[in-house]
Amino acid sequence: GPDGPSAPPALRAGPARGAVAALAASAHGLLEARDALAARLAAETGRLLDSLPYPLLMLGRERQLVRLNRAGRALFGERQASGLLGRDLANALRDPALDDAVARVLAGHEGMSVELTLFSERVERLFAVAVAPLEGAGAGAPAVMAAFHDITAIRRAEELRVDFVANASHEIRSPLTTLIGCIETLRGPARDDDEARAMFLETMDDQGRRMARLVDDLLSLSHIELKEHSQPTGAVALAVMLERLRASLQFDAAGKEMTVALDIAPDLAPARGDESELEQAFYNLISNAIRYGRQGTTVSVRAGASQRPPDHLRLSGGPLLWVAVRDEGEGIEPHHLPRLTERFYRVDAARSRALSGTGLGLAIVKHVLNRHRGELHIESRVGEGSTFTVWLPAAG
Ligand code: ADP
Repeated sequence: GPDGPSAPPALRAGPARGAVAALAASAHGLLEARDALAARLAAETGRLLDSLPYPLLMLGRERQLVRLNRAGRALFGERQASGLLGRDLANALRDPALDDAVARVLAGHEGMSVELTLFSERVERLFAVAVAPLEGAGAGAPAVMAAFHDITAIRRAEELRVDFVANASHEIRSPLTTLIGCIETLRGPARDDDEARAMFLETMDDQGRRMARLVDDLLSLSHIELKEHSQPTGAVALAVMLERLRASLQFDAAGKEMTVALDIAPDLAPARGDESELEQAFYNLISNAIRYGRQGTTVSVRAGASQRPPDHLRLSGGPLLWVAVRDEGEGIEPHHLPRLTERFYRVDAARSRALSGTGLGLAIVKHVLNRHRGELHIESRVGEGSTFTVWLPAAG
């Protein structure tokens, strides 16, 4: 045909002309089929890349952005992303380590990985970016691929672990230092002083108990964390448990002329859970309410059932129970609320220690509730008091 490869002059009018034309036509057909196949493959590859959750960015030989998968477009913002195609990498992001890795790969090096921080949707995210050469790349084709892996959560977990070990060591170290100091004094200067000895023994008793509380709380925390992935299956009667807790905390409350008032819906369905873990969680909440409540006030513990959790909770469907522990204390400023359940996070560390707190009570509550597929919600007004509401799935 007219678009086919032109035949050699000698054959133009010869008898073979028909055969050549047929040959040309079939070659043409083959080329078309090849192009169609290539287009289909490209579309399939595009779909495949789009279905990957990792942002992928492909660059040509001149560092120009030739392709972004869907996660990549989301990373840079859908609208901005289309404007980035065909332009230098620097328009998308500027990072010396990434630039260096791209340059090396373009110069023939093997792949390598760099870390970089990006602001996306107003949050800072840390990425490990694998930069790798793409083999057999033609002129306009992608030559380098950069695959982004969000490691924000992993890094955060590492930091938390390191902080936790440092904090726990510090918390144990300080009573230990006091104990050792007391022992030295009792052996030396206070050896024959009965009055001083009584005082030092008192201090030692305090500090020894503080260490014991700390180690108990640390052990509880690690036990609960170990089991966190398996939801307990028991049925726990909350009314009975809360009444038991009220009785056992009666003495502490009376010491501050406080009362613990229970108001529990009659015939409340049992909660799905582990009795001793839930008891520990509610013990921590009620004893906090007593400790941080004002002298002479009331701690109110209410419980009921609900078909639908409030919108701010992430809980899944099914019948739910709630228990609200309210105190009339000083309240907590809003900026502390999101961090209150972190280990060793305290609004006022000296005050917490004076009240024999370990800083782990609410962390234990949070982990117990995680395991129970429940949730803790904290509301507080400075000067008025706080309400800690626990949501739990009902048994059955
Ligand atoms: P702590 O042993 O210090 O009480 P928690 O983990 O139980 O540790 O609580 C963490 C911090 O949260 C406390 O140090 C305190 O600052 C604050 N907090 C907890 N419960 C209350 C409450 N009912 N009222 C005011 N502040 C509270």
